[in-house]
Amino acid sequence: MELSVVSGGVFKLDGGSMFGIVPKPLWQKICPPDELNRITNDTNCLLIRKDGRNILVDTGYGGKMTDRDRGIYDMSGPTILGSLSAQGVSAEDIDLVILSHLHFDHAGGATRTDDEGGVVPAFPNAQYVVQRGEWEDALNDYGTMKTTYRPENYQPLMDQGVLTLLEGNVEIEEGISVEVTGGHTRYHQLVKVESGDTRAVYSGDILPMTTHLRAPYNMAYDLFPYDTMVSKMRLLRQAADEGWIIVLDHDASASSGRIFSEGEDRFGFEAVELNR
Ligand SMILES: [Zn+2]
Repeated sequence: MELSVVSGGVFKLDGGSMFGIVPKPLWQKICPPDELNRITNDTNCLLIRKDGRNILVDTGYGGKMTDRDRGIYDMSGPTILGSLSAQGVSAEDIDLVILSHLHFDHAGGATRTDDEGGVVPAFPNAQYVVQRGEWEDALNDYGTMKTTYRPENYQPLMDQGVLTLLEGNVEIEEGISVEVTGGHTRYHQLVKVESGDTRAVYSGDILPMTTHLRAPYNMAYDLFPYDTMVSKMRLLRQAADEGWIIVLDHDASASSGRIFSEGEDRFGFEAVELNR
């Protein structure tokens, strides 16, 4: 099994939104903002190559964003299809796409615009999976940020019959399982990969960056920040105790690494480069 981090595109978000209740004098020391108070986010996706199959976790924001959106978020860099192709992987090569949740910066790359201007699955041979509760919440726009659930990112998957809705914690195939964390969204899920000595977890938006290792550092986008904190601390304890590599979905400089304990509920991070 081979794990690689592939970027779904870089963008910027307001620094205050990224750190919730933490005062700016504290967060700006560890994550300096630009002149518009924004901080740089990557959209790190995880490519799992296993037994001749290619499995992709999350898809970044994709290529359908308008110029206006691209400006607002200062989007740059290749989106998921370009990043995969740089690693010698084509859209046709992807067999399964696991979505942590359906916000635009995770599900946008799941579909693409075709030559006739329609929107189709970006990975023509892939099955896609997401939690049923997340799908229902997306359809009902259950959130506080009204621009983040965009039907063009997931409705075409259902229309084409390639989207499977999961119910809770399941092993999707041998060594690859999902766990519902809640917190960021009600049915947000993380993805665990186990094979031989390798144990890696894609934590999604409950632990977006190394700067979110401490308990109160949670995003203002979280619908249930307390649940994020509880899920995150449980994950960090397990990662430190059992040697899991964590893949951080939004960190622009350290996309993966090991966690170690620095005392009760304080954790350090040591970068471990997966293939990029
Ligand atoms: Zn996100």
